[in-house]
Amino acid sequence: MTQHDPRTVYLKDYTPPAYLVDEVRLTFRLAPHATRVLSEIRFRPNPEAASRDFFLHGEGLKLISAQLDGAKVEPELVEGGLRLDAPDAPFTFAAEVEIDPENNTALEGLYRSSGMYCTQCEAEGFRKITYYPDRPDVMAPFHVRIESDAPVLLSNGNPGERGEGFAEWSDPWPKPAYLFALVAGDLVAHSDSFTTMSGREVALKLWVREADIGKCAFGMEALKKSMRWDEETYGREYDLDVFNIVAVDDFNMGAMENKGLNIFNSSAVLASPETATDADFERIEAIIAHEYFHNWTGNRVTCRDWFQLCLKEGLTVFRDQQFTGDMRSHAVKRIDDAMLLRAAQFREDNGPLAHPVRPESFVEINNFYTVTVYEKGAEIVGMLKRLVGDEGYRKALDLYFERHDGQAVTIEDWLKVFEEATGRDLGQFARWYHQAGTPRVHVAEDWSEGRYTLTLRQETPPTPGQSDKQPMVIPVAVGLLNPNGDEVVPTRVLELTEKEQSFAFEGLAARPVPSILRGFSAPVILRQVQTDETRAFLLAHDTDPFNKWEAGRDLARAGLLAMIEKGDGPDAGYIDALGRAVADESLDPAFRARLLALPGEDELAQAIFEAGQTPDPTAIFEAREALRHAIADRLGDVLARLYDTHQVTGPYSPEAGDAGRRALTNAALSLLSLTQGGDRARAQYREADNMTQQIAALGVLVKLGEGAAELKAFEDQWRHERLVMNKWFGLQVGAAKPEAAAGIAEELTRHPDFDWKNPNRFRAVFGALAGNTAGFHDASGAGYRLLADWLLKLDPLNPQTTARMTQAFSTWKRYDEGRKRLIRGELERIFETQGLSRDTSEMVGRMLAD
Ligand code: ZN
Repeated sequence: MTQHDPRTVYLKDYTPPAYLVDEVRLTFRLAPHATRVLSEIRFRPNPEAASRDFFLHGEGLKLISAQLDGAKVEPELVEGGLRLDAPDAPFTFAAEVEIDPENNTALEGLYRSSGMYCTQCEAEGFRKITYYPDRPDVMAPFHVRIESDAPVLLSNGNPGERGEGFAEWSDPWPKPAYLFALVAGDLVAHSDSFTTMSGREVALKLWVREADIGKCAFGMEALKKSMRWDEETYGREYDLDVFNIVAVDDFNMGAMENKGLNIFNSSAVLASPETATDADFERIEAIIAHEYFHNWTGNRVTCRDWFQLCLKEGLTVFRDQQFTGDMRSHAVKRIDDAMLLRAAQFREDNGPLAHPVRPESFVEINNFYTVTVYEKGAEIVGMLKRLVGDEGYRKALDLYFERHDGQAVTIEDWLKVFEEATGRDLGQFARWYHQAGTPRVHVAEDWSEGRYTLTLRQETPPTPGQSDKQPMVIPVAVGLLNPNGDEVVPTRVLELTEKEQSFAFEGLAARPVPSILRGFSAPVILRQVQTDETRAFLLAHDTDPFNKWEAGRDLARAGLLAMIEKGDGPDAGYIDALGRAVADESLDPAFRARLLALPGEDELAQAIFEAGQTPDPTAIFEAREALRHAIADRLGDVLARLYDTHQVTGPYSPEAGDAGRRALTNAALSLLSLTQGGDRARAQYREADNMTQQIAALGVLVKLGEGAAELKAFEDQWRHERLVMNKWFGLQVGAAKPEAAAGIAEELTRHPDFDWKNPNRFRAVFGALAGNTAGFHDASGAGYRLLADWLLKLDPLNPQTTARMTQAFSTWKRYDEGRKRLIRGELERIFETQGLSRDTSEMVGRMLAD
């Protein structure tokens, strides 16, 4: 369907802009319903451009007046913007427009959130503020004057003059319009400062509503750590006198890297021990770092067009992953990233929404801020680093910044710096950017007379619009273990470039046990015939922490699939091996907590589907529950001991060591409660002095069906904390029994605090519903219907969040005829709705098309 949509934009159609911008001057006269935006833009013909067509983007603007070099003009207003006869020489275009921030519910452009003014321009929101060439390859310095009686007036760059009712800002660094930002409101700052490596002072400010001033300290520390880390690791220094971050409650995404003025979803920055969990703290640290790192990877060097989105996002995610690994644990971070990639990106790659990391076309670019662009994009950067080595990587990055500073570039430019810095030909490697789908790597082994041979064969299944897949360059990190558990061949990286390739290891005394794809060295699915004994052996002996964890995961998955498909009982061998591993005090508690997490329901459904069968969501749910019970039964003593001996005492700290212990004790608690009841959880709930312990205990109790009193108490305690209440809404749906999930979600939509126009609150309920796999896919279809009803309600107000949440339906083709019919019915009902947004119609169209 997308193929025929007349609104489709193609990468191959890229042409340079007709005019470039030398300078932008903006004046904002803020008023809730009638804000005036005055612009003065200095244009000059682009020598690289073929045409002199002067077109400016603009959407939902009321044009008051326009001038060309001071003379009044009447531009032709056309679909999506305006046209004007412009000279083939430099000129200044000026305009005055009126916009209505108060009625901007899409949260794109200039809008109001809890009484403050704020903006969101990426990707194409600046055109809702004024007429402009709203494309990332047009970069210019911006000067901004804000007129308003709000006490705090902020924009990009360095502060200029300010006085009664106005403030001016200048950003000397040329930037695309998508990095523009403005904030005006009654805010207070948590302030600090940072001295850069060359000795410049930077004023750091985190702006929040007064009630939230106590939730800023952690974000500020994370910012300073990020700034230092980027200097030490990449040699990148901050480049303005101030760095401002603002927290807003209504935001479609996590946060936005606007130059010198990051705007954050309050959930991605505000934290206190009482209100935020360990996971929240870690996420906040990572997002602060991510947005800060964009200052170089995204802002100083930006994207030529939106097809190159992974250029900034894949690289910046990779950088924030490195940072989190350095701050916490590389092993655990790698496991968490692999779990996310498999749960979300493999799921995307295996369904109707699969697309290359660099897509070739889109209808609405907002639909391409995906796990594929972000997380698989980061995996590609990681593979590049693995292939060229740490030194080659650093050389390439230095060259990238040196050559492209101040430019808007492409993936080809990015790969070229690697080729030049390292001498490596990346022609075949580039396929990672334009071929969609997850490669499967099949393993065959041979052993004869001291010679061990690994034969690897790769294949990538077809994805929408791409049926003929070429072989990829796949770095496969391998180590070999002796049967006694010693490592005989330490990790080496095999480069799989052909469809099928053999790698020989000579001079071995005994047939080794291979440990393949160590450190999850490539975003592929490994297909390996392995006995449970071998897996248990690797779980016990592998020196690579990722594969040690992976072996446990493989055992769990195999056992669960046997339970679901063959009606087997829980595998005692697995449980005993797991018990030995989690009791091993030489292992990091955070790592052991990951060992206790079973493969998710969605992952199992995909595995069953790929094996040619039809997954039954209820059977999958029940098998996981049965295995959890069996683990709790057989490992009761071990788990109880872990729970008792790893409790954190003393004041709460979100640092990795304590967080890992809490992760382990809470994983143990959740299992133990299955066989030993809710007493421990009730006691933990009562004694908790931090949100991690409180919400973990509440989750256990709700799952047991014993949490009514605590749910009520929690609501009374936290009624006035929006971020905490999101947890309260989400937990009830997420922890609900499958058959009850949709009903509970529905009931919560009638709660007086269900502010459905707030994306965080909407997602709390419906994200949790979609995440309760068996509940969402309950055969009644109640979950499907409820979600579709609410998506249709939200779409006219907020297309971006609506479109994103349609992804809950993306796995529909896996299921039985009954469920397929129900989901298809809902998708068609949405698709056929009059006036459906472009965002949602593209997503639903793609899901129905393939
Ligand atoms: Zn980003």
